[in-house]
Amino acid sequence: MSSDLYIEQLRAQFPILDQQVNEHQLVYLDNGATTQKPLSVIDAICDYYQTSNANVHRASHALSNKATTCFEKSRTKVQQFINARRSEEIIWTKGTTEGINLLANIFARQLQAGDEIIISALEHHANIVPWQMLAKQTGAIIKIIPLTQEHCLDVEAFKALLTANTKLVSIAHVSNVLGVINPIKKIIDLAHQKGAKVIIDGAQAVAHLEVDVQGLDCDFYLFSGHKLFGPTGIGVMYGKYDLLQQLPPWQGGGEMIETVSFEETTYNRLPFKFEAGTPNIAGAIGLGAAIDFVNNLERSVLEKHEQRLLAYTEAALKGIQDVVVFAQNLNKSGAISFIVKGEHSTDIAMLLDAQGIAVRSGSHCAMPLMSVLQYSGTIRVSFSVYNTLDEAKVFIKALQNVIQMLQE
Ligand code: PLP
Repeated sequence: MSSDLYIEQLRAQFPILDQQVNEHQLVYLDNGATTQKPLSVIDAICDYYQTSNANVHRASHALSNKATTCFEKSRTKVQQFINARRSEEIIWTKGTTEGINLLANIFARQLQAGDEIIISALEHHANIVPWQMLAKQTGAIIKIIPLTQEHCLDVEAFKALLTANTKLVSIAHVSNVLGVINPIKKIIDLAHQKGAKVIIDGAQAVAHLEVDVQGLDCDFYLFSGHKLFGPTGIGVMYGKYDLLQQLPPWQGGGEMIETVSFEETTYNRLPFKFEAGTPNIAGAIGLGAAIDFVNNLERSVLEKHEQRLLAYTEAALKGIQDVVVFAQNLNKSGAISFIVKGEHSTDIAMLLDAQGIAVRSGSHCAMPLMSVLQYSGTIRVSFSVYNTLDEAKVFIKALQNVIQMLQE
């Protein structure tokens, strides 16, 4: 089967794509913000509520056992999906943001004044602000890996930032703005040589790259279900078993305890120690269905297809006068950012929307990166498995028209 036919068949699983927006066929190029959901995910969530809804792990009745089995099956699917050693290493969160906050809150009790945390200049606010809050609380110091002229992480500068005081390194696997794939394996190995723990923000990676947490040897890996064809409100924090064992819990409440008395509370075993309160059961089951969906994809066909979309779009953008494309010719995944000289990125995005084309504009929750790029915002197109070359062409044509209109 040709890749074009394969993509057409895939699209049929995403009913939302088949609609008119502003009297034009929808062209959805904002997948970095959230992906659309296939019918199998929507059905799994409906089916859970129609046939199996009950609270998990708590009751000794049949429905609760059924819900618990489905819920825990999803955890095992995540474990296998990212090649974690044990299912206890998979902690449910609300999403990447909550996962990083969980770690920052826990490490706030472990770090001291003068300890160092390294992040990079291209991080999402979710991987900046929690560390700033921790630094304020503890006196820890945040150091920033700069970008090279070409807009990739400066690994030589990273080496120079590492010291005996470096305790944590927290880095995006893929930049949500530039789409650049960061050299995380190199970063993990270098950080480990100094005894630092490494946290990888995988929010933009999991839908595009195969993730092997054992191969990477990262200490923590975080992602959000909604960027992987799953529902909102569910995410994953992977952590190495021994580390999770040693760390204290974050939130207290039901589920995370073994025994409670007014004198003393003992904590539950992993993973429940980090899962206080009723979890997002339907979300976890929906994410399990999303992982089934991804596992059934022809990944090699889709990787080539995505690279074709990126290559076409980057080349076409470079051919348009007054367009500046960032992170040109780098190993990218999913997204391309650009600006149009003299025009506001939000104006461009709104005029594209008037033609049914959904792109993202602004600072993309990465204001420090905007300072490095020296623009207040960019326009980002981000692709997923169901986007076609025709859609990329429609976008380029529409952009040319918008620029012409604005410049007239
Ligand atoms: N990190 C990166 C790289 C992201 O792109 C995003 C969201 O766009 C996040 C973190 C935050 O994810 P969420 O809002 O799902 O918690």
